[in-house]
Amino acid sequence: MTIAINDTHDAALRSWLDSANDATSDFPIQNLPLGRFRGDNTQPWRLGVAIGDRIVDLQKAGLIDTQNVDAVLASDLSARQALRRALSAGLRAGSADRARFEAALLAQSDVALGLPCDVRDYTDFYTSVHHATTIGKQFRPDNPLLPNYKWVPIGYHGRASSIMASGTSFRRPNGQLKAPDADTPRLAPCARLDYELELGMIVGRGNDAGTPVGMAQAEDHVFGLALFNDWSARDIQGWEYQPLGPFLSKNFASTLSPWVVTMEALAPFRAPFVRPEGDPQPLPYLDSPDNRAHGAIDIELEVWLQTAQMRQNGHAGERLSCSNYKDAYWTVAQLVAHHTVNGCNLASGDLFGSGTLSGPAPEQGGSLMELSQGGKRAIAFANGESRTWLQDGDSIILRGYCQRDGFRRIGFGECRGTVLAAPALG
Ligand code: MN
Repeated sequence: MTIAINDTHDAALRSWLDSANDATSDFPIQNLPLGRFRGDNTQPWRLGVAIGDRIVDLQKAGLIDTQNVDAVLASDLSARQALRRALSAGLRAGSADRARFEAALLAQSDVALGLPCDVRDYTDFYTSVHHATTIGKQFRPDNPLLPNYKWVPIGYHGRASSIMASGTSFRRPNGQLKAPDADTPRLAPCARLDYELELGMIVGRGNDAGTPVGMAQAEDHVFGLALFNDWSARDIQGWEYQPLGPFLSKNFASTLSPWVVTMEALAPFRAPFVRPEGDPQPLPYLDSPDNRAHGAIDIELEVWLQTAQMRQNGHAGERLSCSNYKDAYWTVAQLVAHHTVNGCNLASGDLFGSGTLSGPAPEQGGSLMELSQGGKRAIAFANGESRTWLQDGDSIILRGYCQRDGFRRIGFGECRGTVLAAPALG
């Protein structure tokens, strides 16, 4: 399962493209994330890889012979590694192929970035025990974590059609709201609009129905990770969620970042999977020596909020929280093994959301539901504004990066979305 570290991860590697060598770039030659771009919306999407402030058009560089993203996602580990090696060799300083790669470069600022693939099917998990505990406490102070949590990776099937590319605005949802002291619900714009800081896992190779994927092969079925914001209407959710779980509180919009950081690129940033003292060990189908040794991934995550007023004043926004993916309770491999244990078939382009990734400290909440304690505590900003829930005009920006001594920092770019006013009620 575990991908070896090789010369493509060497911290000393430099590109002939200067912007890739900038220490602040998310996209040095050690990263090479996959995405899709086009000049304008009359053109089909093309596959590319980010390098510095540019994109390598993969077909123009002679690295692929298709624009079918599912075919690229479905390629086996050796093909994925060969593509990474070819990119690394062509982009590194002194490459004999520089002219061919240079002819295939575009500026990221000159093109539109889309969803990295057509999201085929979407499952959202609930893998942060810190998030689950904090949210559970708001409903059940004495018994925050339900008894299945430490045994089953909890999830629900979400809706793929409303997953949007980063940079897209969406309208605040209308829905049924019922105040605790009201006799009946009413239809109104959501007043408790929230974000969820998540990672998205893009399924690479699928599996046949009836053929579970075991832990040893699980990561072979994941192409890579991107940033994911699962916008949530907490007031709609509170009224609708029992007994079958989230529905209209979740399916109006989710935002996925454009660049998929491959499992190969993440190889240097793996971390042990550990259970806290006294917690049950996973059942055998969710356990493996590889998973224990390095099933987790050390990814620093950040949420930023930019209000309309900040935007007008040229202010990039304020950071709301930081957390780390290595604090999740279940690993990528465990999610694949669990999702398929009943024979469920996954396909290239399926998306798993990690669930809100909150850290152990209260200020590490991955949603406003946590940071504002369910709307009870306002978050104040330097410009005098404050928020308990999102207002129209607010943008949420997710960022993520990996850093470790001896390796080059790699980043995920950003995942941005903006709230617009609700449509008029008819
Ligand atoms: Mn979610």
